[in-house]
Amino acid sequence: MDDAPHDDETTGLTVEEPSTWAAGVPAVRHALEYSLEQTTVPRTARTLLTMNQVDGIDCPGCAWPDPEVGHRSRNEYCENGAKHINDEATRRRVTPGFFRAHPVDDLASRSDRWLNQQGRLTEPMVKRPGSDHYEPIGWNEAFALVADELRSLDSPDQASFYTSGRVSNEAAFLFQLFARAYGTNNLPDCSNMCHESSGFALHETLGTGKGSVSLLDLENADLILLVGQNPGSNHPRQLSALETAKLNGARIVAVNPLPEAGLRRFKNPQKPRGVVGRGTEIADRLLQVRPGGDLALFQALNRMLLEAEDRAPGTVLDRDFIESSTDGFDTFAEHVRGVDLAEVLEETGLTLDEIGAVHEDVLQSDRVVVCWAMGLTQQRHAVPTIREIVNFLLLRGNVGRPGTGPCPVRGHSNVQGDRTMGIWEQMPDAFLDSLRDEFGFEPPREHGVDAVGTIRAMRDGEVSVFFGLAGNFVRAAPDSEATEAALRRCRLTVQVSTKLNRSHAVCGETALILPALGRTELDVQDSGPQFLTVEDSMSQVHTTRGRLTPASPHLLSEVAIVCRLARATLDGSQAIPWTDFEADYGHVRDRISRIVPGFHDYDRRVTRPGGFTLPNPVNEGVFPTETGAARFTTNRGRATRPPAGHLVLQTLRSHDQWNTVPYTDDDRYRGIHGSRQVVMVNRDDLLDLGLSDGDTVDVVGVWDDGVDRRASGFTVVAYPTPRGGAAAYYPETNVLVPLDSVAETSNQPTYKDVVVRLEKVGSRPDRAPEGATA
Ligand code: SF4
Repeated sequence: MDDAPHDDETTGLTVEEPSTWAAGVPAVRHALEYSLEQTTVPRTARTLLTMNQVDGIDCPGCAWPDPEVGHRSRNEYCENGAKHINDEATRRRVTPGFFRAHPVDDLASRSDRWLNQQGRLTEPMVKRPGSDHYEPIGWNEAFALVADELRSLDSPDQASFYTSGRVSNEAAFLFQLFARAYGTNNLPDCSNMCHESSGFALHETLGTGKGSVSLLDLENADLILLVGQNPGSNHPRQLSALETAKLNGARIVAVNPLPEAGLRRFKNPQKPRGVVGRGTEIADRLLQVRPGGDLALFQALNRMLLEAEDRAPGTVLDRDFIESSTDGFDTFAEHVRGVDLAEVLEETGLTLDEIGAVHEDVLQSDRVVVCWAMGLTQQRHAVPTIREIVNFLLLRGNVGRPGTGPCPVRGHSNVQGDRTMGIWEQMPDAFLDSLRDEFGFEPPREHGVDAVGTIRAMRDGEVSVFFGLAGNFVRAAPDSEATEAALRRCRLTVQVSTKLNRSHAVCGETALILPALGRTELDVQDSGPQFLTVEDSMSQVHTTRGRLTPASPHLLSEVAIVCRLARATLDGSQAIPWTDFEADYGHVRDRISRIVPGFHDYDRRVTRPGGFTLPNPVNEGVFPTETGAARFTTNRGRATRPPAGHLVLQTLRSHDQWNTVPYTDDDRYRGIHGSRQVVMVNRDDLLDLGLSDGDTVDVVGVWDDGVDRRASGFTVVAYPTPRGGAAAYYPETNVLVPLDSVAETSNQPTYKDVVVRLEKVGSRPDRAPEGATA
């Protein structure tokens, strides 16, 4: 970083040099400190030693897969996973007395961190119309209340049923079944906001919305490109796989606007070289691309590959694969040959040498994997960018062979599984036909609303009941003020949750909090103890089994909540055995095995150690696209060019954060401590803008609808972002992301593509005169 470390006494902010490495002994220390702050030594030991182990608890954090059985370490988790699990296993409790002491307005004034730190919810609570407090309600009365409201709607489409990626396969399958038996496809989920763009692009080009890469592929690749990804904070165990790949001889190229610590070096705390040595260098090259410049970068690489083939025919492209398994090559090639390299340099902010070096890496690599995450998917041109990555892979046959392929890295533990289970507003007819044949009702065929569509529909009075199965919708969603206003318009909002969050405080006229069992807890139903199942980012399906005593005797499992809600709401004309499903989750898996492709004999296969991996047609050389071939595509789109005096802001998570929940106000790897009200800006841009490190600014969103979107009182931190780009924390700056600013085709909000200006409201007291620091 190009600014001296400093403290700001007024905000509590301390800034120091960003770390050049991730994990190591400090990660272990921080994980244990947080865990022991939340719970006891025996409980911490119990959760951590069973986490990500066979027959243990699946980490509720990200969706990174577990190594094969026999290759797992005794401590198969990262710093963040340890925090996530013990955040849930906390001994702190939110009781009815807490709600008596804290009216809803008070809760709405609290920070995300404060709300989370209050502990586990213990009883169902209701906020009745006109009241400003939640009060206890019995489960039966709560279900009757929701059922009455749902039955009173003119149309089932006036309700929307949101799912978070923490929800198990069983609960997700039942939730979509309930929504469709009730009569709507309004099934938004968190995937609408994280990897929807990946699904659209991959489905169109390869015929499946999932990645095709396994851990073994990653570890055996010659070249790995990490694009728009911060594995050190968001998928930390990926660093272990990258370390193995490096030791196997892989080269790694990181393409990211920020030089994140985890992209540089990894100190594996489970290896001596990670404890006392320098650790492993991760990225051989770090390309600090401008926000939105990734499409241009891959087009340049594709043009270079075509030209290399022209110079040495038959040596660069995989002609056999292109001819036998793809279509659209000629049109694509003609388009990409016309890519203007001068424009590419402008779009990417990179030099020709930097791009040329990656091109040489590609030429020397027989097996290439491209990983990406939300740094790509949340751009305006995310779908064309991912399609261009597929072009890049297809050119040299880097799809479907060992050590190759596309690898979208999902951010929440079962977000991929929930989609497989039918949580999607656009499920294909074949799936709906199977539901009809199995359960004797006609599911609705008209597509429902996604996350953005739900907010618009609530805003416009077209949806008046919002039901959230886990998650924190109001904080995860864009355009915070618009989303809050939309939720407040609802007649009824319902949140199934383990802990308190802002979605309980920003609610409808009537609001319910339904407290659920967590992943860590024993789930006993009429047939005995139950286990649940999940699918990770690499399509491995396996069990998760909690063992702790539940936080309160009043909790219900998510499966039980959905089953009881369905029994209270539906008229029973469908042949759906809700009571049996609740009593024995094996019955749910039996039905899933008859409906969802790849899940035959589910209940037996999933209990094998390590579970099973879903088939991916791409790895069989089959591309179930419209044409039956892998598709080259022609892609267009320019990075957002902010007007003079403006920047393109990306929202991002700190290291010490899980989705919408910050555990502390520190971002250790970026060297930012004590405050999240910061905006990171390149020093040269600060000079151009007449600002200095430490100034206080309002960050003001610029969009053409005339709405004043403003995040006030942020401290400017000079940071090595690319010129023209800025960064600030999610969810605090979601307020700046316009609801209508979405990725083309996928409708995914553009959290990484927000035009802002910085309005100065104050200076750092000890700041040197303008221009005095270099
Ligand atoms: S890498 Fe992801 S799944 Fe693994 S322990 Fe960390 S947060 Fe959990």
